[in-house]
This record gives sequence, structure tokens and C-alpha cells, in this order.
Amino acid sequence: MDSCIFCKIVNGDIPSAKVYEDDNVYAFLDISQVTKGHTLVIPKVHNENIFKLDAGVAGPLFESVKKVAGAIQSAFSPKGLNLLNNNGETAGQTVFHYHIHLIPRYGSDDGFH
Ligand code: 5GP
Ligand code: ZN
Repeated sequence: MDSCIFCKIVNGDIPSAKVYEDDNVYAFLDISQVTKGHTLVIPKVHNENIFKLDAGVAGPLFESVKKVAGAIQSAFSPKGLNLLNNNGETAGQTVFHYHIHLIPRYGSDDGFH
């Protein structure tokens, strides 16, 4: 989709800090890090949100989320990890290309509640 910033990131038209990539999925650091290592995992195809997510996209996407979680664990050694996914403007979605936030947690002083 031409106007979508995450499609542009997948296509390399906007630079990003790549964390992981395979045939179906691209993962990159969030430009506004809630905690160190805050990563977004997105399908390469443009699906707007969970309501529009094709069944064939969801399975490989979540397998990749597990791999990225392992990579974050190895790189940053967090004590925990939050998965977050906003669907719809009312729910806080600001980029309308499906994405899952992986937010590493380091303890009570990591500034994310
Ligand atoms: P949402 O609010 O839709 O769940 O999350 C969108 C996320 O995309 C935000 O955390 C925001 O910081 C991130 N974001 C928006 N534009 C860019 C960008 O151009 N590059 C990167 N790496 N992250 C972005
Ligand atoms: Zn898109």
C-alpha cells in the first residue's frame, strides 16, 4: 500500500533498524523505544489490523514473534517481555499496518507500566 509507512519500511524506502526477516515477516526496532530493545514485528503483506488479518498470515507471524522474542532475550537479557497489539484508533493504533510490539522488561525502573 503506497501511503503506508510500514510497507515503505518493508520495501526499504524508509530506513529501519532490522532485528529479523524471513519470507513472511519483518521485525525492526520501534523508533520511539518504550524500553531498550522495543521491537515491532509485522507481516510483509499489508493487513490493517487483527480484524483484517488473513488466517494464512497469522500462523507464520506468531512463529516469527517467538523467534524474535528469543533474539531479544539473547541480546538484551530482559527479565520479562510484554507483547502488545493495538487494533483500531480507539484502541491506540496509530499505524494501520498490523504489528505486534515486543517490549522487554527490566524491572520496576524501566519506565513502562
Ligand atoms: P501503534 O500505536 O500503532 O500500536 O504503534 C505504532 C508504533 O510505530 C509506535 O510505537 C511508533 O513509535 C512506531 N513508529 C511509527 N513510525 C515509525 C517509523 O517510521 N519507524 C519505526 N521504526 N517505528 C515507527
Ligand atoms: Zn502497510
